[in-house]
Amino acid sequence: EQDVAEYRKSLAIRVSGFDVPKPIKTFEDSGFSPQLMNAIKKQGYEKPTSIQCQALPIVLSGRDIIGIAKTGSGKTAAFVLPMIVHIMDQPELEKEEGPIGVICAPTRELAHQIYLEAKKFSKSNGIRVSAVYGGMSKFDQLKELKAGCEIVVATPGRLIDMIKIKALTMLRTTYLVLDEADRMFDLGFEPQVRSIVGQIRPDRQTLLFSATMPRKVEKLAREILTDPVRVTVGEVG
Ligand code: ADP
Ligand code: MG
Repeated sequence: EQDVAEYRKSLAIRVSGFDVPKPIKTFEDSGFSPQLMNAIKKQGYEKPTSIQCQALPIVLSGRDIIGIAKTGSGKTAAFVLPMIVHIMDQPELEKEEGPIGVICAPTRELAHQIYLEAKKFSKSNGIRVSAVYGGMSKFDQLKELKAGCEIVVATPGRLIDMIKIKALTMLRTTYLVLDEADRMFDLGFEPQVRSIVGQIRPDRQTLLFSATMPRKVEKLAREILTDPVRVTVGEVG
C-alpha cells in the first residue's frame, strides 16, 4: 500500500474512487491471453506506460473510468487492450448484430490512428474493426458494417448518420469509449455525443479520456459514468 502511494506521488498520479484495483507493473500482470501478449510484444511495447499501469486493472475489472493524461501517454492501448478482453468474454455476434465496442474520437485523423491500433491488437483474435468516419464512401461503410464487426471506431457525426440509415444498431454494445472528450466539446459535438450515449444500454462499461477536464466535460462524465475511478497522470489543467 505504502509502495503504491509513493509510486503514484513520484509520477504525479492521482487516483480517486472507491475500491480501486491496484496498478500493474508489467503487461503479464494483466493476465492477457498469449495472442494478445504476442501482439503487444510485436508493437515493441515492453512495459506499460503510467496511465496503462493504472488504467488497465481498473478497466479490466469492469469499472468505468475517467482517464486524464496528456497526449502521447499511451491512452489508446489503455482502452483498446481491455476492449479486446471484454469482447472475447461476450457471446459471438449473430448476423446483423454489433458492434460490442464503440470508440468515439473527435476527428477523422484521430479516429484513423485508433482504428489502426485497434486492428493491430484484434487481428490475431478474429475481432473485426470498422472505421466510421469521413474519407470512405457511406456505401462501402454500410456494406462493411452489415457484414458484421465487433469494434467500431467513429467520429460522432458519421456514427449518427450510420445509425440513422440503420447500418448498425447498438443493442449489443456494452463497451463505450469517448476519447479526447475535451476536443469533442471544443468542436461542438456535445449533442451528437449525448445522442450516441443515449442509444447504448445503460449497463455498459463507459470510459472517458481527456487531456483536460473543463467543467462541461466534468458534467457529462458525472451524467454518463457509473461510479467511475478517476486517474490523472501528470500536471494537467
Ligand atoms: P495518447 O492517446 O495518450 O496521446 P497514444 O496511445 O497515441 O497516446 O500513444 C502514443 C505513442 O506511444 C504511440 O506511438 C504508441 O504506439 C506508443 N505507446 C503506447 N503504449 C506504449 C508502451 N507501453 N510502450 C511503448 N510505446 C507505447
Ligand atoms: Mg489519444
